[in-house]
Amino acid sequence: MSLEQNDNAIWASIQKERVRQRDGLELIASENYTSAAVMEAVGTVLTNKYAEGYPGRRYYGGCEFVDEIEDLARQRACELFGAEHANVQPHAGSQANMSVYLTVLKPGDTYLAMDLAHGGHLTHGMHLNFSGQLYNVVHYGVREDDHRIDFDHVAALAREHKPKLIVAGASAYPREIDHPKFAEIAREVGALFMVDMAHYAGLVAAGIHNNPVEVADYVTSTSHKTLRGPRSGFVLTKEANARALDRTVFPGMQGGPLMHVVAGKAVCFGEALEPSFKEYAQQIIDNAQALAETLMAGGVKLASGGTDNHLMLADVTAIGLTGQIAEEALDRAGITVNKNMIPYDQRKPLDPSGIRIGTAALTTRGMKQDELRKVGGWILEVLAAPEDEAINNRVKAEIAEFASDFPVPGIE
Ligand SMILES: *Cc1c(COP(=O)(O)O)cnc(C)c1O
Repeated sequence: MSLEQNDNAIWASIQKERVRQRDGLELIASENYTSAAVMEAVGTVLTNKYAEGYPGRRYYGGCEFVDEIEDLARQRACELFGAEHANVQPHAGSQANMSVYLTVLKPGDTYLAMDLAHGGHLTHGMHLNFSGQLYNVVHYGVREDDHRIDFDHVAALAREHKPKLIVAGASAYPREIDHPKFAEIAREVGALFMVDMAHYAGLVAAGIHNNPVEVADYVTSTSHKTLRGPRSGFVLTKEANARALDRTVFPGMQGGPLMHVVAGKAVCFGEALEPSFKEYAQQIIDNAQALAETLMAGGVKLASGGTDNHLMLADVTAIGLTGQIAEEALDRAGITVNKNMIPYDQRKPLDPSGIRIGTAALTTRGMKQDELRKVGGWILEVLAAPEDEAINNRVKAEIAEFASDFPVPGIE
């Protein structure tokens, strides 16, 4: 029996979500549209299989075929990023980070990471998150004048606090991160170095963003952001760290891996190894820059004055709004973004001054600079009169018509 007949309530909600994804413009910087091939792999009988352990060393029978899949996923991840060892079992990016912390830190140990309010992630030591509760976290941030990572401050904090681990990587930083510079500071103070490339893994895979695998002890990532795979995580490290890391993931913190998602990751890594993925990743950046220029020309202030990756942070208080008002108005017009803190925000996390905008998903739909300038025009139009229902409705209709020329993979 089909899902439609078997559970109509869930089926109907999924249909509405398909229409929402098809008719609207997805600009959430952490989202993307995965390929039909990835979705096919994730929606298979592999979800039935228990495979605790690793290929060739499982705690269950019948693992010969899932072993092939996990081996391919690991090999492809290593080839894609030039790594010696990959663990593809973490269920998501947060678990990937947890696996490194549990491998190299003891509760109470000190690590250095980017402040959430300056673009860091929950799992970089937010006080309600395990990463903030178990460890002593010292946060660095960006400079007030140019919104770039303040390496003098990072170095000073590292010398003062002697952290066991330094973490680089961010969720809302619109510039390329200088991993070698972080590595140099880590070496100087005898700290281990971890890079969380969750957001920009696709740009690294394409060879555009400098590759943290070359300078870090551990590299963690999600697979579903710019890398365009299934919702999940993975970790890359040197062969010398492989055994300790693998033991932390299983049996240390997870039971059976989600083999259907491991298969989806293998497909995603395979896609990212194709030459066309390089073009895709470069187009993401070209599109972000076209959108950034359009928004700045319209009076919106961008953190750091622009972008050199897939995302930008817009300070909408410069045009008399708040992030919340902007997010809601854009939503009514069929444009999805998220409200976000900007560096040195005077407002609160739940009611911040900015919105975060990313171009990975629209680029997957085949949009290029001209289309992104058009999208920027709609954003400016809506933000100029956020309460004007007539404008919101007209823009929404225009967008649905426009979006129909750019198919979402897997949605007819
Ligand atoms: C998204 C993200 C994660 C966590 O990803 P989940 O899959 O949602 O757990 C971790 N680190 C950074 C920097 C991220 O942006």
